[in-house]
Amino acid sequence: MRLPDPRTRRPARAALLGLLLCTLLLPAGSPAAPDTDAAAAAFLARLEGAWQTRDLEGWLALWDFATAEQRAFEEETVRAAFSSDETVLNFLRRPTPPEGARQFGADVQVFAATEPRAQVSYWRLSAERRAGGWAIVGRQEAGQIDGLVHLSLGPRAFRARGVSLRLEDFELRMEDGTLYTTPEALGPTAFVFVGRARVRFSPPPPSEREQLRQFSGGLALDREVGWAFIRLHPADFHRALETGNLVPETDPSPRRAEAERVWQGRSQRSFTIDAPLPRSPWWLMPTPGDAIVDFPWGRKRVLTFALSAGETEDVNLFDRDRRLQICTYPSGGRAPRYSDDDRRVVDVLHNDITTRFDPERFEVLATHTMRVKVLSPTSTLRLRLHDDFRVASVTTEEGGNLLFFRVRDQGNLVVSLGPLAKREEPFTLTTRYSGRHDPAPVDQELVQVRSPNVDFEDAFVDRPPLVYSNRTAWYPRPPNEDFATARVRIDSPADWLGVTGGELVSLRAEGGRTRAEYRLEQPGKFVTAIVGRLADMGLRQEGEQAVRGFAGTRMRGETLDQMLAAQEMLAFYAQRFGPSPYPALGLVVAEGETPGGHSPPGLVYLQLRPPALRGHSLPEDPSNFSDLPGFFLAHETAHQWWGEGMAPANYRERWLSEAWAQYSAALWLRDRLGEGAFRRMMDRMARWATRYDSSGPIHLGQRLGHLVQDGRVFRAVVYDKGAWVLHMLRGVVGDEAFFAGARAFLERFRYGKAGTEDFRLALEAASGRDLRPYFERWIYGMGLPVFLWSSRTERIDGGFRTTIEIRPQDLPGPVPLQLAAATATTTEARTIVVEAEGGSWTIETRQEPRRVSLNDDRGLLARVERVARVPGTPQR
Ligand SMILES: [Zn+2]
Repeated sequence: MRLPDPRTRRPARAALLGLLLCTLLLPAGSPAAPDTDAAAAAFLARLEGAWQTRDLEGWLALWDFATAEQRAFEEETVRAAFSSDETVLNFLRRPTPPEGARQFGADVQVFAATEPRAQVSYWRLSAERRAGGWAIVGRQEAGQIDGLVHLSLGPRAFRARGVSLRLEDFELRMEDGTLYTTPEALGPTAFVFVGRARVRFSPPPPSEREQLRQFSGGLALDREVGWAFIRLHPADFHRALETGNLVPETDPSPRRAEAERVWQGRSQRSFTIDAPLPRSPWWLMPTPGDAIVDFPWGRKRVLTFALSAGETEDVNLFDRDRRLQICTYPSGGRAPRYSDDDRRVVDVLHNDITTRFDPERFEVLATHTMRVKVLSPTSTLRLRLHDDFRVASVTTEEGGNLLFFRVRDQGNLVVSLGPLAKREEPFTLTTRYSGRHDPAPVDQELVQVRSPNVDFEDAFVDRPPLVYSNRTAWYPRPPNEDFATARVRIDSPADWLGVTGGELVSLRAEGGRTRAEYRLEQPGKFVTAIVGRLADMGLRQEGEQAVRGFAGTRMRGETLDQMLAAQEMLAFYAQRFGPSPYPALGLVVAEGETPGGHSPPGLVYLQLRPPALRGHSLPEDPSNFSDLPGFFLAHETAHQWWGEGMAPANYRERWLSEAWAQYSAALWLRDRLGEGAFRRMMDRMARWATRYDSSGPIHLGQRLGHLVQDGRVFRAVVYDKGAWVLHMLRGVVGDEAFFAGARAFLERFRYGKAGTEDFRLALEAASGRDLRPYFERWIYGMGLPVFLWSSRTERIDGGFRTTIEIRPQDLPGPVPLQLAAATATTTEARTIVVEAEGGSWTIETRQEPRRVSLNDDRGLLARVERVARVPGTPQR
């Protein structure tokens, strides 16, 4: 699965969305085919000529108007464009109507600038053949981008002495200096301050303060700075700035050189359009509520504070150059509980992909058709598609060619929906595209340990298959994952095979190629294609569940064993979590330097080390349990329920996928290898969890370890501490309620997205308990229980009585705790329920205990510390 990677978050993303519309790729005009209508070509040349020479009469003469009103409107529109400083008309795709055509459409982009402003309009012109030749008969407005401005520092400046710019949780206190701004014609939207100022930023959420501490050493920011660059909407100027204390600077020249230097460095970094428009660069006006403040950090770095009114987590602090997201959270004290689906504009219902892979050259040639339903009217649809791919066309069965735009280096494809924008019934969008794309190794939803520093010279390892997954957008899709059924046809070279999730419908070899077709009948959140030297190992059916194996070279025997193991795991999970979300599962087993796996919908990819490497040890890692046979496969198959059949609602909710996969694997191993193996595994997870618990709460999700660029932090907290939290919750509510709650939760959110609160409510409904305090402490907060305890043993009739005093700390509510007293021959154990205030309990034994202990059954992830005397108890 793919979450908004904090590193790729951009400032004022909402504002940037607006500008995407006008940043376009102009496809080169296709060369005229021999049978093209020559009269139409001449007509188009006249059309261009009339625009270029601003010949209003010439333009109107191209028309065959139906009414006088139509003529008047056209004249008014074009006259306005022709009176601008500069206007340019381009065909988005030059029409080439065939000889004999009666009509054609022409999509054009019209740029018009009157300094310091500009706008871009998209028109669809309809032309029809008339007795005297071609004529325009209609012009449809297909979209417009205005609010483009040219920014500069004006001649005026203000003296700023004791003036504050106040934004959410942020203050720029200008102690003494000069504030330069844009010319009056634009209104106050961009500023450079030079002088002495203090920057203060104090995020209220404790986890954000901790992130700030990891970055800066302090829980809040308070620094002196020598300059700042500010962008906001002019309407926000008086609200955010204490303008009453600004007085005109009598002589702005002393600091102007420094202000110009800041302007040069910063002004083009935000709200700037990167597009082949005349007079570029152009800036966009921030939408009201959006703001950006850049300020220096140390000698070389610059930090940016940004408010992005269009985002759920609208308060941001980041280092743009190093792609570090330091803080991000919702303003106004709102809890960051939301679903990525809340803001989606379309629902994807079905993906149909026909693709030809030539993996030796990383070549992809594809046609992708998706069926979508508009959820809220939108004129454009923003899709993700990797920049390696060139788009040939976007069409729709319902409306022909659609305009599309791409933004340089943004990995997206923006489609103008035109008349489909308000369509209530679902419609299809077909994108034809191609390119050379080398998918980097998968890392999302992947349990893979870091590569060891082993010399592989003498250990031949098969090249692992190419995995086109959710990491890069290898087919056009909305910014967030969307559950949809799929049909995928993969064409690959003869000794290669492409595999995707779901059922293999057909497989045949023809013309030196392998052609495979798959169908995912249940909705999956993305489509993965694994292309490698793979062989179909056949189907194993057990009850409702079918597993089809695909083996890499030299992995055939191994694959049959893994298919059997997968069947057993799937049955084990189905018993606990309900029916498998994807009853037709593919299992790809291949060789790689590091063991690992990946689990897209209806598909499990397992990477095993070749036998020659299995003796080499791997680095310690929170997710490395490769010494426990079956661990990786058990983790990955569990993802079919946790992460695929139900998907986390946003990047913070990753534990619902990873912690559950990890804990499910532990449960499976307990079933297979026994209690001892389970406890050793929980002990290893406990060591990682306690080591990194203070880095941030589980609910920080993918941002854990981001600032220190250490993925182990994420895995230690989200996978291992997460698994422990599930284990503890299970202890709190009991087995029956725990699994009933889990099943109800999965059933309720099957093929949908869910968050922590949804899971809490499901467990509460099943157990009849209020579990909020546990979730507050263990998921949204940090800190694990501590038990200080002491014991004394006294002789009683017939044996010994041991009294254990316990004083817990950081306990969110009552928890079960095992007490044990071991004598030379037996161990007496009892499980008590400890409440926040603690207490004393006794164990009676026949012989004198040699060892008294707590939590031997690994019921709790807790620090257990024996003390001479528990604080708060009377001296004895
Ligand atoms: Zn996983």
